[in-house]
This record gives sequence, structure tokens and C-alpha cells, in this order.
Amino acid sequence: MTRLLYETDSYLSKFDATVVRIQGEWVVLDRSAFFPGGGGQENDTGWMGGFEVKSVRSQGEEVLHQVSEHAMAVGDKVDCEIDWERRHDLMRGHTGEHLLFSMLSKLDPELELIKIAITPTKKSLVVKGGLSWPMMAQAQELANEAIAAQVPVSDVWVSKDSELITDIRVKVDRIHGDKVRIVKIGDLDKAACAGVHIQNTRELKMLLVTKLSSARPVGDYEIDFETGRQAMRTALRLSNIGLQAAEVVKAQPEHLVNALTNLKGELQVAREAVRVYGKQALAHLEPEKLQGVRLYSGVFEGLDKKTLIDSANDFVKGDRTVAIMASVDERLMLVVATSKDLEVDSREVLSDGLKAVEGKGGGGKNFASGGSGQPNGAKGALEAAKAGLLARLTKA
Ligand SMILES: [Zn+2]
Repeated sequence: MTRLLYETDSYLSKFDATVVRIQGEWVVLDRSAFFPGGGGQENDTGWMGGFEVKSVRSQGEEVLHQVSEHAMAVGDKVDCEIDWERRHDLMRGHTGEHLLFSMLSKLDPELELIKIAITPTKKSLVVKGGLSWPMMAQAQELANEAIAAQVPVSDVWVSKDSELITDIRVKVDRIHGDKVRIVKIGDLDKAACAGVHIQNTRELKMLLVTKLSSARPVGDYEIDFETGRQAMRTALRLSNIGLQAAEVVKAQPEHLVNALTNLKGELQVAREAVRVYGKQALAHLEPEKLQGVRLYSGVFEGLDKKTLIDSANDFVKGDRTVAIMASVDERLMLVVATSKDLEVDSREVLSDGLKAVEGKGGGGKNFASGGSGQPNGAKGALEAAKAGLLARLTKA
């Protein structure tokens, strides 16, 4: 059995202990301050007798420390040290999760905490229930008020039938054993938890939600958050991006979301109009005669790919017909279609056109398409493809 030093002092980062058992690269001590992970929080790492502790896990009543290539033997006294920077970050994340979920619960008591992940690179919780951005804003404000108020975090062990556990956030039937550890954030929150916590909310400095996304199953949401200096840096960066975006769309920052929503709607309407007018223009496209072949060609700005391809294929349903057409938006798309009775290979004509704009493409003998990141070169590409077609027709 390992005595769990982190349960009574979560700030103990250096300690000595005696090796009681060795199982390959896993070392068991009589006592340990290494947190083996739990409740979604990742395990500690650190050093033991000068060797690196790569991982820690619990097994029954023991804590196992993974120390590769060590020279320790049962009975050895070893000096241990936890990677404190990592542990303190994880404790902040873990306590931040208590605080954030507690504030969300105050706004909607029906919310259910499904999953927690507290690692050096990700702090997140999955919540079931109706969440929204305005709600996240309110919960963050409450959480950051609690951080500014420097609320102490404390814990107490009680028996399962104690009055103290009447209103904790974890259902009593999910607690195993007779004793329960209750972690309190002042009067704000009370939760049953065996993890490691900070002593005061001021250690969080700041709590910032960085992402709210739908999770599986439907109705679950994943909330990513950050704490400490990292949260401050991210908040400053995002605020600057928000102000820039507001300037781009010429809106007050407060109205940015509405402005973008309106723009998105307008873009959809405009795209549909371009599609309709593009189709009409294509329907009236007159072919030119080239070496006894009907050639339909043109550059169509903003025309969607599907309309372009469908039209090209429609044109070449007639005999001795070729279509060389380009659409232009942020990129250039070039399509070449030839009627089945012609010997000319669409891929070769496409390649003649794309050479002019360093594009790439492919296809079959009667239909080929490709793209390029040089939309300004559309006219040149079209002319190059037409010249290529003429040369091939003349040769044939
Ligand atoms: Zn906890």
C-alpha cells in the first residue's frame, strides 16, 4: 500500500520515500506525492533518485511509477521530485473545471457533466444540456469574479451519510467506499473529488473559454478553456483578431456576429443569382467555327463548378463540337469537353491551357478539367487552349 501524500498536501513537490516493490520498470514506494491521474486529469511526471519518472498510475492500493533503466532495489531510500510546473498547471485546470462547471450549473441546474480532460495541452469538459455563447459569457464573468475575489479552496473528509454531502455536485450512489472527500470553493461550489486542487482561486489569474463545439452524442457540448497567463495571452490575441475582423466588415465589435451573419446570407443570395444568370448567359452562348468544328468558349466569373461542367457536357452532345470554358473566383477552373466523333484529346487541350497558368488537372479523352491559383490568367489560359485546339485540328 502506498500512502498518498498528495491527498493531504497537494503542494508537496519534493519528498523522500522507500522502494517497497519493483515490477520491471515500474517502482512502488511506501509513500508518494505523485498524482497517478484521475477524474480526467493526467498523471504527474518528475524524477526519482536521479531517474526520470515518465508515467504514474494506480493499481489497487499502490501507486506505480514508471522509471526506465533505473538502478533501484527494494529497501532503497530515494529522493523524489514532481515536475511542479506541469502539476500546478494541471491543478489549475482541474480546479478551473470545478469553478466553470459550478457557474454553468448556477445558470442551468439541469446541466450534466459527462467527461473531463485536463492535460498539459488541453483543458476541456463535455456537458450535456442546452449551452449557448451568451451563457458561456455569463459563466465566465462569474468565474472570473470568483478569481478576483480570491476565494479559498478547501477540502474535508466526511462519512457517506454526513449532512455535508446533501447538496454536492456528485450523486452519492456514484461514490465508492464509506469516506468521501468534499472539495469546496468558498461557498460557491461543493463537489466530491479525490483529485489535487489549488489553494485559492487567485492562482487561476483568469479563466477563458476558447471553444464551444457540438460533441457526440447530439446534445452534448465540449468546452475548451485555458487558465493563467496562457488565458490572458489568448484573450488579448482573440480580442485583437475580433477588432480587426470588425474593421474589415465595418461593424462595431458588439455587432460583429450580426454583421457576419447578414453577410453570409447576402453571399448566398448573390451566389444563387450568379448561378441563375450564368446559366442564362451560357444558354445564349454562340459557337465560333474553327476548322469545321463548333467551339463554345468563354470565361465566366463566379460561376459555380457544377453549372460550368454541366453546360460543357451539354454543348458537346452535338457532333463536331468542342467546349473550352473557364470559371473564376479565388481560383481558376478550366474545363475542356469534346464530342465523341472528334479525334482531339480533351486532356491535351486542357494541358495547353493550364501550362499558361501553372495549373494542374486531368480527366478522360472527351472531358478534362483542372485548376490554378492564378485566376487573373483566365483569358490567357483560354487563348492558349484555343491555340492548342487549332494546332491539333490542323494536324488532324
Ligand atoms: Zn477535483
